[in-house]
Amino acid sequence: MTMPNMHYRDLKDSYLFYNIAQKTKAYLAAHPDQHLYRMGIGDVSLPLCKAVITALHEAVDDQADRGRFHGYMPECGAPFLRQAVARHYRGRGINIADDEVFVSSGASDELGDILDLFDRGSSALVIEPAYPAYVDANVMAGRRIIHLPSGKENGFLPEPSEEAKADILYICSPNNPTGAVFDREKLQRWVDFANDCGSVILFDAAYEAYIEDEGLPRSIFELKNAETCAIEICSLSKTAGFTGTRLGYTVIPRALVRNGMCFADMWLRNRTTKTNGVSYIIQKGGAAVFSEEGQRQIRENILIYKENARTLMRALDELSIWYCGGKNAPYIWLKCPERMGSWEFFDYLLNEAQIVGTPGAGFGACGEGYLRFSTFGSPEDTKEAARRLVTLLGKK
Ligand code: PLP
Repeated sequence: MTMPNMHYRDLKDSYLFYNIAQKTKAYLAAHPDQHLYRMGIGDVSLPLCKAVITALHEAVDDQADRGRFHGYMPECGAPFLRQAVARHYRGRGINIADDEVFVSSGASDELGDILDLFDRGSSALVIEPAYPAYVDANVMAGRRIIHLPSGKENGFLPEPSEEAKADILYICSPNNPTGAVFDREKLQRWVDFANDCGSVILFDAAYEAYIEDEGLPRSIFELKNAETCAIEICSLSKTAGFTGTRLGYTVIPRALVRNGMCFADMWLRNRTTKTNGVSYIIQKGGAAVFSEEGQRQIRENILIYKENARTLMRALDELSIWYCGGKNAPYIWLKCPERMGSWEFFDYLLNEAQIVGTPGAGFGACGEGYLRFSTFGSPEDTKEAARRLVTLLGKK
C-alpha cells in the first residue's frame, strides 16, 4: 500500500477566510442592496504601475521575435533581475552579491519550498499571532513547532528567551497580522540569539516597503552579523501589486553555513532540480520595479494605501481604541471594544456597519479579542468605513 504523508492529518482546518466568505455571502443574500466595506483580505486593489506594464508588453513582443525570444530561464533568476535586486540592496548600504539573490514566484512558494534545506528533525519557532503558512508548512513536514505567543504587553514583539530556542526562527517584520515592526535593537537581539544558538532566521520581509520611520530596519541584513544566521524572503506582491502576477526574491548570503553546508549552494542545487525558472515576461516586469521610474510609481501606490491607514488610525484614535500597526505596515491590529471576542466583533461590524475585518483569533489563540484591518482597499471605501466606525462605536 502506498503510504501518504500522514502529517497532513495533523493540519488544523483553516476556517478563517472560508468563514468570512460564508458570513459575508449570507449577509449579502439577506441584504442584496447593501454595499460591503471589505477590509479583510490582504489583496491589493490598485493595478500594476505604468513602468511595469510597459516592460511586460515589451517582453511579450520579445517572445514574438526569433532574435529576442527566451525559452527556459536560469533556475535562480535572470541575471538582469538578480543584478537589479542586488543593486537595490547595495543602494541601501547592504552588501549583497548578485548570486546571493534568488528569484522566486512569490514569498508563499518560497516559505514552503525553502524548508527543503532543513532536516526534518529540526524544530521551528513561530511567533504568534502569525501568517498561517508558517505553521502549516512545518506540520506537513512533520516538524516540531514551538509556538511563542506575543501580546499587547510586549507590543506583539517578543524577546528571545530559553523557550524560544529552535533551529528555524520565523520573524515577520512588518508583521502580518499585527503590523508591528521590530526596531534595530530588538531585531539585533534575535540575530545575536540565532548566532549563539546556531539557528537560522527565516525573515519574512513581504511588507518592508511600508516602513516609513527612518530608524526601523527594512532588511535583516542591515543588522550586524545577520549574514551568518538569516535568509530574507521578499515579495513584489504588496510592494508593487504583483499578487496576481507572481514574483518574489530571496536573499541567502554565502556566509550562512551550518555543519559545513552552505545554504546558498544548497538552494542553487535545489532550484536547479525543482524549478525551471520564473517566466521571462514576469521577470522583465519585475526588473522594471527596480528602475528609477518604477520605484517612483510603486511609491505613489503605496502612499495611497498609507493614506487609507491614516484614515483608519484617525478613526480609532478618535474612538480611543487600542491598536498597533498602520504607520509602518499595511495592517492595523485593534483590540475589540467592550471585551468582545474576535468573531463577535466581526459579526457586529458586518451587521451594524457593513464593514468586513479579519478576526484575530484566526491567526493563533493569542489573537483572540483582536481584529485586523487591511488598508489595501479603495480610498473611498476606507473613508466611508472609518466614518461608519466612528458613528457606530462612538455611540457605545
Ligand atoms: N508573507 C506574508 C507575511 C504575507 O502576508 C504574504 C501574503 O499575504 C506572503 C508572505 C505571501 O506573499 P506572495 O504573494 O509573494 O506569495
